Amino acid sequence: MKRKILITNDDGIHSEGLWILKKYLSDIGEVFIVAPDRERSATGHAITLHRPLRMHRIKKNAYAVDGTPTDCIILGYNLLFKDEKPDLVISGINKGGNLGDDITYSGTVCAALEGAMLGIRSFAISIVAETNFNFKPAAQFARMLSLKLLKNISDRHIVLNVNIPNVRDIREIKGVKFTRQGKRKYEELVIQNVDPRGKKYYWIGGNLEPVPNEKDTDITAISRGYISITPVNLDMTDYGRIPELKKLQISINTIKNGKN
Ligand code: MN
Repeated sequence: MKRKILITNDDGIHSEGLWILKKYLSDIGEVFIVAPDRERSATGHAITLHRPLRMHRIKKNAYAVDGTPTDCIILGYNLLFKDEKPDLVISGINKGGNLGDDITYSGTVCAALEGAMLGIRSFAISIVAETNFNFKPAAQFARMLSLKLLKNISDRHIVLNVNIPNVRDIREIKGVKFTRQGKRKYEELVIQNVDPRGKKYYWIGGNLEPVPNEKDTDITAISRGYISITPVNLDMTDYGRIPELKKLQISINTIKNGKN
């Protein structure tokens, strides 16, 4: 039986990264594209609840949705796969890295999270660069990783965040590191300026502060020329905090007794 692979992105259905991914996966499974009809970067895990969604077939097995990347996974999963689920969800290839704390903003990573929540092995793949993206090495790597996951991983809730240096040839990459999520810091996160009518405006952006070379993080792996693979937990619970919180004796009794 032929495997079914659902792919999406947050750069929009016309982004080159999506189509090269499809091309490189086409011999390992039947590839279905369900992607936003325009760029929806930095939409995080948002879903559209307060208006109807439209899904347009643009060619065989390729659909554009006027919603978020997570909307695309939900619609694709429910409308295109009646009896058998897709075997794999891939989100990307994103134009720009998804590293450290930024992953909760990321439409790319959150679409993969949605796949895992639906019980489908998933990964997000992003090229760490701002311009002149070389998609081929990322597509080659995505193909190899897909084969490994399909063959060897039975836990269907696995989700990986993959970042790849922007190299012309995959031979320029030093190797693969399994990493933890690093910390990102921005300086001047909010830029203030004045519009042509004299009114103030604000622009969230800012420059990345140089990050110390923390051990084993995604950011460090990328800065040293490696591919970074971070396994992501769907369960965001900070288990280590629970004993500390218990010691605070937070209770409703003090409120009931009118003491605090
Ligand atoms: Mn993007």
